[in-house]
Amino acid sequence: MTSEDLRRLTAMLEEEQVQIESELAEFAVRNPLIKDDYVTHIEPAENSEEKAEKLADYAVNKSEEEVLETRLRDVEKALERIEAETYGICSKCGLEIELERLEALPSANLCATCAGL
Ligand SMILES: [Zn+2]
Repeated sequence: MTSEDLRRLTAMLEEEQVQIESELAEFAVRNPLIKDDYVTHIEPAENSEEKAEKLADYAVNKSEEEVLETRLRDVEKALERIEAETYGICSKCGLEIELERLEALPSANLCATCAGL
């Protein structure tokens, strides 16, 4: 990987981080007690019908929140690996992760072989 590739992948990761954070901010708030944890809002309801609706929304948002949180953690771990200069190295076999794979999934921490692809 050239330093140009690394710069490009870093930019992709940073962009994805901002994107995920703004998606999360639409329906969740940061948990002040746990880093990178978000709590889905539940809005107050006027009556029981509305309450059922809000609870259904909450369930959808809650599962979306978990998906986004997992992605956000993967992105942040990748950014940490860039800092530590271990980015692009498979965490299982220690070989370089294929550039093509990183371009498709910049937060990948396993090479295609170890990821079972
Ligand atoms: Zn590997």
